[in-house]
Amino acid sequence: MRDFLQRISNAFRRFMTGRYGSDQLSRFTLLLALVMLVLNMIFRTRTSVFYWLVWVCLIITYFRMFSKNISKRYDENTRFLQLKEKIMGKLRGGRAGKAGDSVRDSYRYYQNAYDNARSGGTSGNTMRSDKEHRIFRCPNCDQRVRVPRGRGKIEITCPRCSHKFIKRS
Ligand SMILES: [Zn+2]
Repeated sequence: MRDFLQRISNAFRRFMTGRYGSDQLSRFTLLLALVMLVLNMIFRTRTSVFYWLVWVCLIITYFRMFSKNISKRYDENTRFLQLKEKIMGKLRGGRAGKAGDSVRDSYRYYQNAYDNARSGGTSGNTMRSDKEHRIFRCPNCDQRVRVPRGRGKIEITCPRCSHKFIKRS
């Protein structure tokens, strides 16, 4: 039995090689599928729009996970995270206006990661330390993250793996 599971897991790993896998956006579309499933159960008709939305969400989720166009999927996820940040920022609104608590503020530099991914990683000058920025490497996945200087201790969220680490900028 264990051997069988091992074989399945190996086969799956082989299948996923060179494919994109899951990210924040696919977790979100999967959650959306579940929400639609619940709404469909509430409204209970087979022809309900929610029934189709469940399928749409699932297809998007698995299409993206099994996709081999990794940079395009990465771009989509980046845009999703930027949008989410924008919306969350608006929701937080005036309440979190105290800029002094910079440790509490999460600095997410998705745009940097996006530029970096587009320019093919370390090449190009998009990820250079300068007067206004510092570059840190994510301790978890080695992704380079650019943050503004002089903000004191900040919590940095890695745009690639969402690992959080604290650095002095
Ligand atoms: Zn990372």
